Amino acid sequence: MHRLYENGDISVFWNSDKCRHAKKCVTGCPEAFNINKKPWIKLDEADTSRVWKAVSNCPSGALTCVYNHDIKIMLVKDNNRSVAYDGEALIGECDYQMTDEGLDIYHTEVDPEYGGKGIAKRLVYVVLQEAEHEKVKVIPTCSYAVRILNND
Ligand code: SF4
Repeated sequence: MHRLYENGDISVFWNSDKCRHAKKCVTGCPEAFNINKKPWIKLDEADTSRVWKAVSNCPSGALTCVYNHDIKIMLVKDNNRSVAYDGEALIGECDYQMTDEGLDIYHTEVDPEYGGKGIAKRLVYVVLQEAEHEKVKVIPTCSYAVRILNND
């Protein structure tokens, strides 16, 4: 399971396949990580620096995070893609199509000027999260999405 949690400052990725349930996150920042609540991660209820530290202490790599750099990510279901905007400027996208086998993510691209900010990962996670909500199998042909799906 892939989940993306965002506040105004950061994006937190959670890959349940990697989670060893050591609960370091829960003890490190209980305001944000509470396994008795749904969703179990609530970034608005904790100081960003405390969330960042708790994520950094995750022993399995199930939790990772990046700063948002004011880049907005949206899923545009009607166009089968997620998009990244810096203000009014489109600076990235992740495109998918439905096939007989499942949801194929076939293209992920971010303006090279915005590289190294985790934007592509946010774009792919938004699509993975939606597919998992809809219980649709994901069969990416985009090599980057394959890497993310396979426990990056
Ligand atoms: S610290 Fe990491 S491995 Fe441990 S429960 Fe939290 S997400 Fe899972």
